[in-house]
Parts: sequence; structure tokens; C-alpha cells
Amino acid sequence: MTSSIVYLGLGSNLKQPELQLQHALSALAQLPNSQLLDYSSLYSSTPIGVPGQPRYVNAVAKLKTDLAPLALLDQLQAIELNQGRIRDGERWGPRTLDLDILLIDQRSICSERLTVPHYQMHLRAFVLQPLLEISTPALCLPSGQQLAQLIQECPPDPDLHI
Ligand code: ATP
Ligand code: CA
Ligand code: CA
Ligand code: CA
Repeated sequence: MTSSIVYLGLGSNLKQPELQLQHALSALAQLPNSQLLDYSSLYSSTPIGVPGQPRYVNAVAKLKTDLAPLALLDQLQAIELNQGRIRDGERWGPRTLDLDILLIDQRSICSERLTVPHYQMHLRAFVLQPLLEISTPALCLPSGQQLAQLIQECPPDPDLHI
């Protein structure tokens, strides 16, 4: 079976966010037919969307997996639910755990449940900085753009820090 290299974005701003991310990383390490290769530091970031919510803790993980993209998404959503994620229909509201698929090799996927690369990763410093930490400025997206260029063009979060 062919395996893929996947980068995942992790986020939490409820119920001890650092612990939520630690638990999520343990769960990722136990995914079937997969190997957790690396993960970034935990970053503190300014919330987007719904105002007045607590700051987020974010990280990026690197996974090698034999799972098909939608099977991986199923597994990630199961981990979110297991850690008490409540989907009340409000987008960008506070949550115990959010697991986004950022990149799968150099593939582009556009289906009802899954868009890869993640449609807003280029706008999110809290994604690009931890991604840089565990990859390289030359990391290439399906568009042909490199991570370094995305970072240059990304709106800054002045309060983003480890
Ligand atoms: P955002 O997608 O802007 O980061 P969010 O993470 O809060 O917002 P969710 O409520 O977690 O959004 O996810 C909504 C839906 O997005 C999911 O049910 C999933 O089917 C879909 N989705 C599409 N592309 C992706 C992706 N690359 N990673 C994770 N979910 C995705
Ligand atoms: Ca490491
Ligand atoms: Ca998200
Ligand atoms: Ca999500």
C-alpha cells in the first residue's frame, strides 16, 4: 500500500487546551496504519471568528499514513468527539479540540466533506508557523507555492507565541 505524508493542524481553547493537545497527540500516535512522525511546539494564538473567546493553543503534527483521506477524516472526527467536541453549528466558536487536515502529500482534494490543502491555511499564522517548525521553507504546495512564500504573504498575528 502507498502511504502518504500528512500535516495536521491541532487547536483547542476550552478545558485545559494544552492537555487537550497532548491527548490528541497520543491519539494520533495510535491511529491505525499510521505513524506520528513529528509535531511542533504548542503555540498560543489570537482567536479568529467569534470574538471574546479564550486564546487558542495550536500545533501542527506530521503523520505517515496508509489511510485514505476520508478514512483519516473519520478517525480525526472520532478523536474530536472523544475529547468532547460539540458541534452546535456555530463556526469558529470555542472548542475542546479541532483537527484539520492541512496537506496530504502534494494532492489537491475537493469533495463535499474534504478540501485539501486546507482552504484557509495560507491566511493563518497559527498554522504556518508551527508547520514551518517541523518542515522546511521549501515545503511545496500543490499550487507550486512554497511555505516561505505563504508565510511572507500571511496576515501576521502579533501575539502568536510558543
Ligand atoms: P475551519 O475549517 O475554517 O478551520 P472549523 O475547523 O471550525 O473551521 P469544523 O466545524 O471543524 O470547521 O469542520 C467543518 C467541516 O469541514 C467538517 O465536517 C469537514 O467535513 C469539513 N472539512 C473540509 N475540509 C477539511 C479539512 N481539510 N480538514 C478537516 N475538515 C475539513
Ligand atoms: Ca520532533
Ligand atoms: Ca479549523
Ligand atoms: Ca476543523
